[in-house]
Amino acid sequence: MQSEPVRESVPEESDVKATVIWQNIYEKLSQNIPEQFFSVFFNHLKAKKYVENQLFLSSDDDQVIHHIKKRYISQIEEVARAEAGENVQVEIVLDDTQENKKPIDFPGSAEKKKADTETSHQILLNPKYTFDRFIKGPSNEHAMAAAMGAAQNLNEFHNPLYIYGSVGVGKTHLMMAIGNFVLQNSPWLKIQYTPAETFQNTLFEAISKKNMSSLKARYRNVDVFLFDDIQFINERADFIQEEIFHTFNFLYQNKKQIVISGDRPPQQLSTLHDRLQSRFQSGLIVDIKPPNFETRLAILKTKAREMQLHVPQNVLEYLSARFTTQVRILEAALIKLRFVSELEKHPIDLQMTKLALRDMPNESPGQQISIDEILRTVSQTFHVNEAEIKGNSRTENIVHARHISMFLAKSLIPSMSLASIARAFGKSDHTTVLHAEKKIRDLMDMDDTLRVQIEELTNELKF
Ligand code: ADP
Ligand code: MG
Repeated sequence: MQSEPVRESVPEESDVKATVIWQNIYEKLSQNIPEQFFSVFFNHLKAKKYVENQLFLSSDDDQVIHHIKKRYISQIEEVARAEAGENVQVEIVLDDTQENKKPIDFPGSAEKKKADTETSHQILLNPKYTFDRFIKGPSNEHAMAAAMGAAQNLNEFHNPLYIYGSVGVGKTHLMMAIGNFVLQNSPWLKIQYTPAETFQNTLFEAISKKNMSSLKARYRNVDVFLFDDIQFINERADFIQEEIFHTFNFLYQNKKQIVISGDRPPQQLSTLHDRLQSRFQSGLIVDIKPPNFETRLAILKTKAREMQLHVPQNVLEYLSARFTTQVRILEAALIKLRFVSELEKHPIDLQMTKLALRDMPNESPGQQISIDEILRTVSQTFHVNEAEIKGNSRTENIVHARHISMFLAKSLIPSMSLASIARAFGKSDHTTVLHAEKKIRDLMDMDDTLRVQIEELTNELKF
């Protein structure tokens, strides 16, 4: 196969044989390729001609051709050969005949198209997410210092800056604080804040609307690129990873600041290709942990003050002790208290607090799920005894129960490091846990029964 779309002249009319083969390919592959990719790529292909063991397909979008050649050509050829014989070769050509030409862009129309896409996905920085309003504590001070360093000295030492931590610990707040700082101090610079999911959707849209140039203009014409929640990038979509890689490379080479957040360190993102990972390794990687008791207390005091809410000290302490992992939940608790207090026309006190928040999840350390509970629950469900789960047996059902236990430990006990989870299972290597987690995730993707089973185990452990 040639790597570039060929612009040679192919016979204009698609003949019957080509159409028949193409129909079969289309049907077979539609069953094997996830719908969102299939419709993006395959609906832009047409049968052209079948001559001398060559099946010509065509598309008027060279991006589509590029990705099909990269990802799907062998699957296409496999079906074509089953249909028409071992020697069949598939050629995909760029169709630039008149009827398929994209509409001519009149002056201004390109800009308009660009503006449309931009407004539909543009996410504004939340002006409240500033460094001033970020409460510093041992759990987040490195991340905060790194973010401030990046904001003050764009592209000087922390590039790319990668910030990771669990949900609700302040990653988005810090990223937007960088953006707000730059906006304030260098208003002429272009800032792009994009959750990975938005990037992905925009890319799908750009491909299907054949509007890649507007996507490139949007993501490459920036001085500060804030890329949030990279863990949501679809692992099966090579072309997304590729687009991210090229975007980062382009920005990096042009000395632009890149900041990325994720829920785990880059080397644990099983979904990321090596070259993206090594790009991150070359910058600065910092983590944010859930805040400790004092920091939680300080955050609550500040937020209460901002909300002009009088909350007695014993209530603040009660909240700090009860909600331990997510700042977001601390805020939610205050909002609920304000609501109840206004409704009942009664100042906030401890008794009201306990009653008002009785439905909120309990996160205090006393309530935390333990490895022993996980072992007990898994052992009952899978009829394997606990010692076996912790042991070294390679028997299939025992290994499966062990993987599930590690998976649950990793997802339900955020305070435990990978190394300590591994130790609790008598393993010395923390990658064992990652391996188990990935294994279960992969299985869950394919096996609904397992997914339901895991959900039930999770609920049983949590409540
Ligand atoms: P993440 O992106 O890590 O899930 P967010 O940045 O969305 O978390 O934070 C959740 C909420 O908690 C936000 O409203 C944020 O302002 C607040 N928050 C988190 N950490 C802090 C902090 N150290 N000081 C003040 N507010 C914080
Ligand atoms: Mg976030």
